[in-house]
Amino acid sequence: MILTYHELEPHSASRPYSVLCSMFRRHLETLQTLRQTGVPLPEITFDDGHASQYEYGAPALEEAGFHGIFFITAGWTGQRAGYMSAADLRSLARAGHEIGSHGWSHALLTRCSESELAEELRRSRAFLEDCLGQAVTSISMPGGRWNDRVLAACAEAGYRRVYNSEPHRRPGPRCGVELAGRWMVRRTTDTGGLMRVVRAGGARRLLLRAQHEVKSVVRRLAGDALYQRMWQTLGSRPEGR
Ligand SMILES: [Zn+2]
Repeated sequence: MILTYHELEPHSASRPYSVLCSMFRRHLETLQTLRQTGVPLPEITFDDGHASQYEYGAPALEEAGFHGIFFITAGWTGQRAGYMSAADLRSLARAGHEIGSHGWSHALLTRCSESELAEELRRSRAFLEDCLGQAVTSISMPGGRWNDRVLAACAEAGYRRVYNSEPHRRPGPRCGVELAGRWMVRRTTDTGGLMRVVRAGGARRLLLRAQHEVKSVVRRLAGDALYQRMWQTLGSRPEGR
């Protein structure tokens, strides 16, 4: 199971998908115990490029002997308060972490025209490659939204691996890329909950799939715009941010 974190907060986890720094460290300690058991270690990914991931996430990973994959909203880099700078990205890459794209502007890619899609995919990749001086071949889907048209455009733009937010999906080829599902870590995820997901076998994956599909139906019925407003009304961010 591939894990996804968003913002890390030092004092209190104020949003559904932000995680307290102390809990993140406990997650890593728990994952370290897997090394002795032979259970495959999960990939640890971060979405959006929030500065807290650089400030708190990367040092904790390095102390625990892990590397992460950081998916960056390229157009926010050095432009938006609270998000990483180009120097931060270079520092992460030097420390052995992988940098991937999370689009240029965090637009939902399924709602983009062909030209907007090309802009989101190519501009973000070119920016990150210029910044890092190395190839960028992975991308995670803003808001978790994807379809086959988006995957084909990702392949065309030079990406090889695409990450979405479907926890039940095992990595496999689709439309010219490898598509991999991930599980979004929540502020309520304790170490026991994390281990149940990391060790998830067939039955639990079916349960995760059912939960994900219920949420997708609600989102479809409400419409993307209304769904995002619903989240904002609740004082939180849309899922997948
Ligand atoms: Zn996002």
